Amino acid sequence: MRFSGFRVVKEALTGHKGWKPLWRDPDPQPAYDIVIVGGGGHGLATAYYLANTFDKPRVAVLEKGWLGGGNIGRNTTIVRSNYLLPGNQPFYEFSLKLWEGLEQEFNFNAMMSQRGILNLIHSDAQRDAYRRRGNAMLLSGADAELLDLAAVRDMYPFLNFDNARFPIRGGLLQRRAGTARHDAVAWGFARGADLAGVDLIQNCEVTGFRIENGTVKGVETTRGYVGAGKVGVAVAGSTTRVMEKAGLRLPIESQGLQAFVSEGLKPAIDGVITFGAGHFYISQSDKGGLVFGGDIESYNSYAQRGNLPVVEDVMECGMAMLPGIGRARVLRSWGGIMDMTMDGSPIIDRTPVQGLYLNGGWCYGGFKATPASGYTFAHLLATDTPHPVTTAMRLDRFERGHLIDEKGAGAQPNLH
Ligand SMILES: Cc1cc2nc3c(=O)[nH]c(=O)nc-3n(C[C@H](O)[C@H](O)[C@H](O)COP(=O)(O)OP(=O)(O)OC[C@H]3O[C@@H](n4cnc5c(N)ncnc54)[C@H](O)[C@@H]3O)c2cc1C
Repeated sequence: MRFSGFRVVKEALTGHKGWKPLWRDPDPQPAYDIVIVGGGGHGLATAYYLANTFDKPRVAVLEKGWLGGGNIGRNTTIVRSNYLLPGNQPFYEFSLKLWEGLEQEFNFNAMMSQRGILNLIHSDAQRDAYRRRGNAMLLSGADAELLDLAAVRDMYPFLNFDNARFPIRGGLLQRRAGTARHDAVAWGFARGADLAGVDLIQNCEVTGFRIENGTVKGVETTRGYVGAGKVGVAVAGSTTRVMEKAGLRLPIESQGLQAFVSEGLKPAIDGVITFGAGHFYISQSDKGGLVFGGDIESYNSYAQRGNLPVVEDVMECGMAMLPGIGRARVLRSWGGIMDMTMDGSPIIDRTPVQGLYLNGGWCYGGFKATPASGYTFAHLLATDTPHPVTTAMRLDRFERGHLIDEKGAGAQPNLH
């Protein structure tokens, strides 16, 4: 299904009867050059770039459920590149640059909206830390502005400035950050990959790997054996369960993360705001719902839902930052499974099994990474060399001690 302005007008005038499904529904072929396990944002983006940029069209994406049913369709849609460390910042800035051209690239409306993200500052120490982070961002070519209290008050007068338990002292602003419609991102990549010849196979769970003499030969699935020259795994919260089937134990734990949406309200918050004295972030969707979230669950789980203590914590943080939120009613909430690494940063690398590649450990920040993750994983799969912005995202960094620990929290995933 291809789009054009002419097509939209034609369909509008003829009752929208000519639209066809965005991708085919093929049966698995006996073998492919490259098999991607996981039809989330990262798996679909990888397949898209493999076929369109790296000229590898004999690719299949195997998805156990439906395309976009995992975290790509569950996140709070924030896109930004406000990282600190050299192992991360250039990667996320590369990703933001891809986001800026993405809708033109795959000709699909992903509602990319660069509405800005403001990280609130509540103490002098935090201002120092954010100034350092802002400088690191500027060094990687990103944008960053340090705002004083008056500028923050001018921007968002309804925040809790007076008699606040955690007074606001300023903020770090990235204007090019923002939000994108998460499931449209999956659909755009899926459509673009399908048009380039990739087989997107749904309801096809990978149940095992066929490994001979240390080399992967293919995957066992609920729809039969599929041979593969190379296998790339991009299954987010299921990373440990899937890689276990290849005999690999990873420095990753899975934990739930919840999100919340309020009833539709008149436009009030035109950017993304994060609380600096607790974990809370909020934006407003184009439909008017306040979209917000906070910490992950404090226990390990593969359940796509959360528990009440985190609900309470998120609401408390929301009330501390933005008391007016207490007047809004929550419409719905949901959860996803986070693949939390021991340093809070991702892995894009080969594995000890020849031909088996890993893309995972996105913690709760992988949506913003989607285009760069796909691009750089495709680069690795196609060329067998890491892309320059992922050279630090090695699997063996946990053995070597070369961690990318943004928060300096140590091996405590729920603190990252
Ligand atoms: C509530 C919430 C809020 C979030 N907010 C943000 C945010 O604001 N900004 C941000 O940057 N990130 C955010 N994230 C994180 C982000 O959504 C994830 O890091 C990212 O989507 C993970 O990559 P993915 O899209 O490929 O994952 P997924 O969409 O989960 O894709 C993985 C796929 O693998 C499939 N799979 C699993 N096992 C198998 C198997 N054995 N065989 C075949 N397929 C399999 C799954 O069904 C799934 O579809 C949030 C996540 C959640 C849950």
